[in-house]
Amino acid sequence: KKLEIEKTIDLPSVTLDGEKINLYINIGGRLDITEINRKKPEGIGLLRTELIYMENDEFPSQDKQTKIYGNISEEFGLEKPMVIRTLDIGADKSLPYYTMEPEENPSLGCRGLRFTLSNREIFKTQIKAILRAAYGKNIKMMHPMVSNIRELQEAKKVVEECKLELSIEGVPFKEDIETGIMIEVPSVVLIADTFAKEVDFFSIGTNDLTQYVLATDRFAESVHDIYNSLNPAVLKAIRMVAEAGEKYNKKVSVCGEMAGEEVSALALIAMGIKYLSMIPSSVPKLRSLIRKVNYKELEKLREPILQCRSAKEVREILEEYLNNL
Ligand code: PEP
Ligand code: MG
Repeated sequence: KKLEIEKTIDLPSVTLDGEKINLYINIGGRLDITEINRKKPEGIGLLRTELIYMENDEFPSQDKQTKIYGNISEEFGLEKPMVIRTLDIGADKSLPYYTMEPEENPSLGCRGLRFTLSNREIFKTQIKAILRAAYGKNIKMMHPMVSNIRELQEAKKVVEECKLELSIEGVPFKEDIETGIMIEVPSVVLIADTFAKEVDFFSIGTNDLTQYVLATDRFAESVHDIYNSLNPAVLKAIRMVAEAGEKYNKKVSVCGEMAGEEVSALALIAMGIKYLSMIPSSVPKLRSLIRKVNYKELEKLREPILQCRSAKEVREILEEYLNNL
């Protein structure tokens, strides 16, 4: 099987019936880009910037961040898209040099965009760095943990403020940077149409989305058997987002762990997802799989999957498909 995977490493990730499925990677922190590029990913779907912050011993300056983001894009390949996620701290992610306000329920508290919106200087430093690094490069920006439209509008206002300040300083930056949001909170899924009109793209964070749809801590051992991204409720949420994307012609990717796992990646493709972002090591395995499947056949599994009563039933349908390839 390993040999088979190696053989397709330089081939395009298209299904037998010619549907392109884009394979992107999730990265963050210190990287070996040469090694990553050997897996032939087509883009960076998620740069987790908090990992870069974590490796520093204070909040990294605007110049430092500009350089880091720019270098990653250059080493990776300037033509390939790279999505930089704004700082996502709180809940499971913290910085060694910053004490978060203690909260009763950190996963439901001040995290992600909620944190950066209430810490404007930290936010603006990063946004300016992203805008500057993006100049002349294929770099996009994305906000984590959006839960209502006001937060998105606030974030856009901050970005406009940063652009204005940079132009007054005469610093070059990417004027028309594409901006997307992570979809991790059920409220955004339920009114995905509203958000689709306001963004350039969606990226579904199924790690958190699963946690919030199922009200199940993604890290708690005690509820480990309830936390399942193949739960039909999670897949239905994903389908709703894909539909909003189709309606408003916005790209929808999935950057949660499930995108890099064979059975669940098939579930995502069946839901109409054509951009999968995963840990770099999973890319060759997924490419090899995609070249063996038929998109139309997977599309036909969509309704049966959504009619399933449990993750177990979903898995049975997909494993049967997989075993017959
Ligand atoms: C997610 O929630 O699915 C995601 C990709 O973000 P993170 O794992 O960094 O919370
Ligand atoms: Mg998340």
